[in-house]
Amino acid sequence: MSLREARHWVFDMDGTLTVAVHDFAAIRRHLEIPPEDDILGHLAALPEAEAAAKHAWLLDHERELALASTAAHGAVELVRELAARGCRLGILTRNARELAHLTLQAIGLADCFAAEQVLGRDEAAPKPQPAGLLHIARAWNVAPEALVMVGDHRHDLDCGRAAGARTVLVNLPENPWPGLADWHARDCAALKALLD
Ligand SMILES: [Mg+2]
Repeated sequence: MSLREARHWVFDMDGTLTVAVHDFAAIRRHLEIPPEDDILGHLAALPEAEAAAKHAWLLDHERELALASTAAHGAVELVRELAARGCRLGILTRNARELAHLTLQAIGLADCFAAEQVLGRDEAAPKPQPAGLLHIARAWNVAPEALVMVGDHRHDLDCGRAAGARTVLVNLPENPWPGLADWHARDCAALKALLD
């Protein structure tokens, strides 16, 4: 399958469709999470009350970021082009679903994604696990191999690989994971150019 032929696209949100603003080191410090630990994995292993309090703080913190988000270079044009071509579009994010909606509204893309195809950390096991992509493939009634997963982080590529989807890395000038990305584009404008 060439990118031009792809009809089923799933995007990471933060840092892919938006300008990355999460300071994960500061979040880890505030929540007393060791630098090497996965944030969501660490919270999942805490006693219930502590996990709930820290999730609440994280949600508040990320809500502020969501309301202030700005679109990444070329992201709006890329998504609108794919929508105009009749492609199915989904979001798979480690952020919360309600904040994904706020973010998509803030960057002017909310109308391009059906609500049920925006999956957050409470709808599916978080990336790099493949559950979210497999869920979307089932909902669209296609094989996972028909999906293109677009992201800016290794998690996105690992998730795509684990699901059997094709993978695109964006928003990094170089590709540190050539074995994991089927395509690399320095930003969404360059990715859109690959569709011509
Ligand atoms: Mg990201």
